[in-house]
Amino acid sequence: TNGRSVTVIGLGPMGRAMVRAYLARDYEVTVWNRTASKADDLVAAGARLAPSVEEALGANELVILSLTDYAAMYALLEPVTAALSGRVLANLSSDTPERAREAAAWATRHGARYLTAGVAVSPDLVGTPDGFTYYSGPEDLVEEHRGALEVISRVEYRGEDPGLAALYYQIQMDLFWTSLTAWLHSVAVAEAHGISVEDILPYSVDVADSLSTFFRFYAPRLSAGDDTGDVDRLAMGVASLEHVVDTVRAGGVETGLPEAVLDVFRRGVAAGHANDSLTSLRSLLRAGTA
Ligand code: NDP
Repeated sequence: TNGRSVTVIGLGPMGRAMVRAYLARDYEVTVWNRTASKADDLVAAGARLAPSVEEALGANELVILSLTDYAAMYALLEPVTAALSGRVLANLSSDTPERAREAAAWATRHGARYLTAGVAVSPDLVGTPDGFTYYSGPEDLVEEHRGALEVISRVEYRGEDPGLAALYYQIQMDLFWTSLTAWLHSVAVAEAHGISVEDILPYSVDVADSLSTFFRFYAPRLSAGDDTGDVDRLAMGVASLEHVVDTVRAGGVETGLPEAVLDVFRRGVAAGHANDSLTSLRSLLRAGTA
């Protein structure tokens, strides 16, 4: 053996991809999953299935958790906290920054060292040079295990606060889920009119690619607090969104998504920003609904 070994708990699509990446790098991999059968093909590929969570924890210092959420982690580990002492838990499960901070304190109380992670990569890209994972927690811990963590993906260390990796991840997912659903919505409108997803694809890709240009254009203005309506005006945006909503409705497609955006634009106009850029919506969005 080359002395490199790791435990992976949780064998959903992500955990499975991680195990395969470690096996490909000749790591000794101990796995555990609530549904044991999900380990069958991994065992055939060289992983070792621990007979219990406790033994999975005991097998290696570095324990990767890849679970649906933190509730799943407590369900698995709360009954065996005595086995946490001396372990390094890298939690690559998604959850909120607040729950990540609580989990770090909980793990520390039980004698474990803890890293929060947010995996910004799909299962097929795990173990490839593409994509990355956010980490937060003790920096020396990341450095100590950098080699093993980089088997999964590039490491993006965000800082000591254990909530940070979760925060960066959720900020990214806010953009990701709403954007992807917006694309699906536009496809539904196209299909309602007999235009196929493939027909519209080149134009959809063009819009998606242009978004990064807009991010880069507006970011310095947002930083500077400059909402000048020289390129776009909220009043123009309202008129444009009304055309969108009307077109969507005429196609018999659900209007909730563009209507939510139209509502924000209208409130911006009502707040006196008709001649300002859409960047002026930021203060309104930040005020929230609480
Ligand atoms: P899944 O939800 O498919 O897998 C979850 C794992 O959690 C399974 O091993 C499951 O066990 C286990 N689990 C869930 N609830 C419990 C419980 N109460 N007790 C014990 N075990 C439990 O997730 P993925 O593998 O897709 O993803 C893992 C994490 O990575 C998630 O937090 C996800 O948000 C994140 N992620 C996922 C991506 C993706 O594309 N899939 C991309 C980036 C991040 P069992 O097999 O027994 O059900």
